[in-house]
Amino acid sequence: MRARWLSAATAHLNDRASRLIAILGVSVTAGLCALGLYLICDMRHGAWLQAEQGAQNLLSLIEQSIARNVEMYDLSLQAVAEGAEDPQISNLDPAMRRRVLFDRAASAPGLGIMLVADETGRIRIASDPTVPTTATLIENPDFKALRDDPSLGLAVSGPRLSRVSGTPILALSRRVTKPDGSFGGIVSGAIHLSYFQRLFERLHVGQGGAINLFQTDGTLLVRHPHLPQVVGRSVASGPAFKRFKELGRGVIVERSAIDGAARLYAFAQLDGLPLIADVAVGAQSIRAVWWPRAQMVIALTLGLSAATLSLTLLLQREVLRRAAAEASSRAANAELETLALTDSLTGLPNRRRYDEAFAREWRRAGRTQMPLSLLLIDADSFKHYNDHFGHQRGDEVLKTVALCMTRHLDPIDALACRIGGEEFAVLLPGVEAAAARLIAERIRREMVRMEIPHAEAVGGTVTLSVGVASRVPDADETSDILFRDADAALYEAKRSGRNRVRLAETSDPRGSMLRSA
Ligand code: GH3
Ligand code: MG
Ligand code: MG
Repeated sequence: MRARWLSAATAHLNDRASRLIAILGVSVTAGLCALGLYLICDMRHGAWLQAEQGAQNLLSLIEQSIARNVEMYDLSLQAVAEGAEDPQISNLDPAMRRRVLFDRAASAPGLGIMLVADETGRIRIASDPTVPTTATLIENPDFKALRDDPSLGLAVSGPRLSRVSGTPILALSRRVTKPDGSFGGIVSGAIHLSYFQRLFERLHVGQGGAINLFQTDGTLLVRHPHLPQVVGRSVASGPAFKRFKELGRGVIVERSAIDGAARLYAFAQLDGLPLIADVAVGAQSIRAVWWPRAQMVIALTLGLSAATLSLTLLLQREVLRRAAAEASSRAANAELETLALTDSLTGLPNRRRYDEAFAREWRRAGRTQMPLSLLLIDADSFKHYNDHFGHQRGDEVLKTVALCMTRHLDPIDALACRIGGEEFAVLLPGVEAAAARLIAERIRREMVRMEIPHAEAVGGTVTLSVGVASRVPDADETSDILFRDADAALYEAKRSGRNRVRLAETSDPRGSMLRSA
């Protein structure tokens, strides 16, 4: 079984067409797999790129929105700072002064109370009349900074809890400069962090996504979707926040310090503010974009590859089947051919084969000018043998004659054939007359030595008569001449009493010389 399999495998490899089909099949399959892999990688890359761009766009929207808000509030602070030193406004009664100074700025969404403090830190006026004017900002770090540095523009601090509302706020302050250029106090306001929460809530972050606003020390200030239990916690030791601090701005993929889920983060330190914002997209939601399509590609690639390989195998089997059929038909033809050229009784080449070989050797001898010798061997009084011992025993004797001939011949150079009933011929290319005659004599003697019984009337044993002819063909001679010479020599052998060898008179002179010697 194993041997059969091995020989089938060898046949596969040996067969060129089969090999070509295998190479093609495997190449097409490999190509399909490579294409599938490329498509999957492309889908995955595209999904991540899309998520990255989406997160960055959202982040820049958030940045712009916060920056615009801070800018607007800063403009209001500047207007209040200028107005606070205007003598016309200072002379108004407090309610009117409040209305003129704070206008509508303090009522904008997300903005907290605005107040003006004099150079001693005492609160002069607040947008909210309930704020006690007895309070002082002397210890306020922004107050100190603005007092000590006239070039300082907008001072931002916090986030911290508002002393009025108790909610987290970001404090923004500006210096008030007196007409003589000296320090005249500060104007201060607040942005409620809840404003950012409302801003973020309007944005869609998708499954597993989040928008976070951190203080630069790592405290989580705002998170959307809102998680009250994590707001206020520090994520400073988390790997993602460490990289936010380290890089300042960018896109990274990290595990969240809050829930451990892998996310893509687009993050930025907000310009001029002690805040870091990030937009996080869940790795799972990115995977949900490309993986279902990738599964279809995988199924399609596997299906097509399996179909290609099956077709390849089928095609290979068909090609092999045809090759085997052709080989067996060739073998059958060759066998038929051999049978057509073989004598069935003795197994020697038959007359047809002899004719072909004789014509070929004659031409070759003519070309090479080498001698060609022919022995014609005939069983003596064979009719008598048949009559005496029966035809079947006669057949046995013919087989023995065939054996006896081949035993004395070189199987490579000589060709022994059965050319008729009890007649045989031996072609001896390159053998001169003398050598041919010696060979003939050996065959005849061998037959005598075997002492196959024959009728007493014809000598008591089976004998052979041999006619020998040898020629180096001339250009004008036909091949018949050699046969005729050998036949004449055989006739002569019979006529002289049988059981003898005769060399044709016309044989090659080199043979004639030997014969006469
Ligand atoms: P000669 O010595 O002159 O050759 O006499 P012969 O009897 O051998 O010659 P002849 O040509 O008169 O007879 C040939 C005989 O060979 C006739 C036939 O019975 C016999 N013979 C021919 N073919 C076969 C064969 O295939 N088998 C047998 N057993 N005998 C055959
Ligand atoms: Mg005979
Ligand atoms: Mg005969």
